[in-house]
Amino acid sequence: MGIIVQKFGGTSVGNVERIKNTVNRIIEEKEKGNDVVVVVSAMGKTTDQLVSLANELSSYPAKREMDMLLSTGEQVTISLVAMALIDRGYDAVSYTGWQAGIVTEAVHGNARILEIRTDKIKSHLEKGQIVIVAGFQGVTEEGEITTLGRGGSDTTSVALAAALHADRCIIFTDVTGVFTSDPRYIPNARKLQAISYDEMLELANLGAGVLHARAVEFAKNFSVPLEVCSSLEKVEGTFIEEEVAVEKNLIVRGVAFEDAITRVTIFGLENGFRNLSDIFTILADHHIDVDIIIQNQTADNKTYLSFSIKDKDLKDTADILEFNKARLGIDHFETETGLAKVSIIGSGMVSNPGVAAKMFQVLADNGIAIKMISTSEIKVSTVVDEKEMIRAAQCLHNAFELDAVEQNI
Ligand code: ASP
Ligand code: MG
Repeated sequence: MGIIVQKFGGTSVGNVERIKNTVNRIIEEKEKGNDVVVVVSAMGKTTDQLVSLANELSSYPAKREMDMLLSTGEQVTISLVAMALIDRGYDAVSYTGWQAGIVTEAVHGNARILEIRTDKIKSHLEKGQIVIVAGFQGVTEEGEITTLGRGGSDTTSVALAAALHADRCIIFTDVTGVFTSDPRYIPNARKLQAISYDEMLELANLGAGVLHARAVEFAKNFSVPLEVCSSLEKVEGTFIEEEVAVEKNLIVRGVAFEDAITRVTIFGLENGFRNLSDIFTILADHHIDVDIIIQNQTADNKTYLSFSIKDKDLKDTADILEFNKARLGIDHFETETGLAKVSIIGSGMVSNPGVAAKMFQVLADNGIAIKMISTSEIKVSTVVDEKEMIRAAQCLHNAFELDAVEQNI
């Protein structure tokens, strides 16, 4: 007996039938004698539909109002799931993020969870009730509703699991686990039995949509045992844990990719200490996520700087740079959209030199030009043309023999 947090994504609650199936999964866990907390996403494509609705009425929807709108999606699901459980004879209660005590920083659209006040949830669990919490949302100290960024329900569930010292957090989704790459695009991708927090964190950060990166960060920091599995198929999922033996000496365990990347290049900076920190401080203050950064010097002793951002941040970034041009010492800047990031990930890279070299060779052999590179101990990322993204990922998946991963089904 223990506390289990179950999270069901949009497809797992997409219609009445799916909700009934989800309710069965919740009941199974409860019947094992566990205390169950459930986190749900909005039904199906609800969040996307709400975003389009907002875009039809405003070219730049106010961020506060956007959070107000998007948080309604999850509120529909919690009440339906609770009702269905009550109908089956179980005692259940639904809570929005703010009712559940999920306190976030005061940032709309991408807030981080600061604290979870769990008293209320705990008192319900003590009474034997199943608690259903709306994912993806919280409240600021001032009482404003915030959302955690797209895919943020994962983070709600892991953060709740950490705060409640749950025995396990199970993320139910529409795939059977974490794959070596996205099986929708890479047909010979294989499910992994287990993956380390660090590898999963890189995968999630580098565009593998299966888990929200912040959820993995929480899981790692608080050692939350995490499992990703299918809500429909009853097969073992993927376990995410501290250390994982390198299967079959696989140095690379995953290939991730992400489109909609923009490269910004700033020209004419004076060499010096201040301007770099000034530029990135101002971008950080505006919550612009900067990814790969490359700095170089030109013959006339000026610095030029390239960095990558998401396409969605292009307008804000360009506005900020333009407005602060003189103060930041920028001569001019250029932007290039239509790019993508393709990355290889694996803990085994730490002790195996030559992995990056092999990656570059594979891309070169296939005529794919690399525009930017960044590396960490356990990953190598390249920025390529968006049109080449899937081909690059497939070539790398083949070259590193990821289809040889052993299956557990
Ligand atoms: N409903 C939100 C989204 O679609 C949050 C989530 O599903 O995790 O992004
Ligand atoms: Mg998701």
